[in-house]
Amino acid sequence: MTANTTAHDRIRTGKEYLAGLADGRRVHLAGRLVDDLAHDPATEGMAGFLADLLDAHRPGEGLAADDGQPLAYSLADSPAAVHARGRAFARIARLSGGLLGRSPDFVATVLTAWAGAAGHFGAFQDNVRAYWKLARDANLVLTHAISDPPGDRHLGPDARGETQTLRSVRTTAEGVVVRGAKMLATLSPFADELVVYPFRPLTEAEADQALCFAIPVATPGLTLYSRPSYAATPADDGPLASRFDELDAVCRFDDVLIPWNRVFIHGDVETANNLRPGTGMTAYAWHQSAVRAWIKAETVFDLADRCAKASGRDRQQVVRQQLGELAGIAETLRGLVVAAEAGAHQDEFGHHTCQSVPLAASGMLHARLYPRAVELLQQIVSSGLVMHPVAADEDPGSAAHAFMRTYFAGAGVDGLAHGRLLRAAADLTMNRFGTRQVLYERLFLGPPDAFQAKFYDLFTQHRDSRESVLDDLDR
Ligand SMILES: Cc1cc2nc3c(=O)[nH]c(=O)nc-3n(C[C@H](O)[C@H](O)[C@H](O)COP(=O)(O)OP(=O)(O)OC[C@H]3O[C@@H](n4cnc5c(N)ncnc54)[C@H](O)[C@@H]3O)c2cc1C
Repeated sequence: MTANTTAHDRIRTGKEYLAGLADGRRVHLAGRLVDDLAHDPATEGMAGFLADLLDAHRPGEGLAADDGQPLAYSLADSPAAVHARGRAFARIARLSGGLLGRSPDFVATVLTAWAGAAGHFGAFQDNVRAYWKLARDANLVLTHAISDPPGDRHLGPDARGETQTLRSVRTTAEGVVVRGAKMLATLSPFADELVVYPFRPLTEAEADQALCFAIPVATPGLTLYSRPSYAATPADDGPLASRFDELDAVCRFDDVLIPWNRVFIHGDVETANNLRPGTGMTAYAWHQSAVRAWIKAETVFDLADRCAKASGRDRQQVVRQQLGELAGIAETLRGLVVAAEAGAHQDEFGHHTCQSVPLAASGMLHARLYPRAVELLQQIVSSGLVMHPVAADEDPGSAAHAFMRTYFAGAGVDGLAHGRLLRAAADLTMNRFGTRQVLYERLFLGPPDAFQAKFYDLFTQHRDSRESVLDDLDR
């Protein structure tokens, strides 16, 4: 490396990422093995988007620091550095309108927290630091698989006859051999690597499930069973679904060898159960997700507003009230990010992070506010969600072209441009892409009711002790 070489010169290009997808990974998609995700009609749109995202980490775009390192991987030494990281999350989220739930900056934040508190991993701490550096230097596309199969959680191994949950089955001189499945990993078909760690608290009897590691998706023995793509055909009939379907897949490990240098926790229930408080990782990860929630709410507002203006429905008082509620949702989520960043402080591990209470409030509220935002979008756009020009009507030679162009013409838009807005609104409200987005946000932090109870504890623990007028009742 010459003296003038920056980290940016070493970071992979989008082209290199796309070429790397043909690495022998086993991805089943709707019943078939996909040869090359970069060139398969069902996946090339998403792969291309991720390639563009990697290329957007060039200097001056606000996604990487002056030395070329992606900001999502930065350990902050000041409140200003926390703020800069937040602006990078916002820029990334805006590229997909917040619709890419598992953009790679999310797991980057998890690794960064782990590296900043690597002592938590005891004998494996050097592995954690080395992997964080490797991921940062290559700007890896990462996702995580943490949830366990529902059968084991709800029926138990006895009723099913066998255990499905991912567990360690033996160790060798080379590493740990793991077997079983993780329920779901969003984006995994497109990821370079999969980061695995536990989601629920484990008992001592489940020490074989106390695992944390990272491996390439193309590791022998790992198979991903993806749900079908929700991309529309033709793509312009589902303009959002065709660009931002990140896929979700079951991850099956068939005696997969995890090399020792990629093992971060093995068999240590206490370290696994304390992973979150022991590394402060939630303040990092929730910062990214709170920013994305705010940007996504703005996307829904903008779409509803444009549709309402195009059709003139914005002149109805009830629609203006609904738009006001949508604006309030976006502003609430933005305000929680501002509050969290304003409270940035040095944490117990010596790095600066956001105040976590507003971030947790954002996560808890977003699980309810996003479904409400989609409901409002549906009410505002109403019949336009089903009655609109389709992509084929854009062809001047089509029989319906002239009629659609004039019939749907609105304030400041011709009928075909109006049709594109309405098809985007239908994507978010009517089809599998949109309803999956609702489910994703509902369950982003696990079961939402359970998270509300956790928030109650967090809020009361962190609340300033202050005098209350209620104290006077005892006097
Ligand atoms: C689109 C999507 C993407 C996902 N992406 C990922 C991913 O990338 N990686 C990953 O590891 N996981 C992922 N998940 C899994 C997600 O974490 C789980 O769906 C979530 O934790 C809930 O688990 P479950 O679906 O098995 O429901 P269950 O836990 O079986 O719950 C069933 C129902 O009971 C409710 N419930 C459960 N426990 C409680 C409780 N204590 N209090 C109140 N209600 C409760 C739930 O809210 C739910 O309605 C994803 C899920 C979806 C839907």
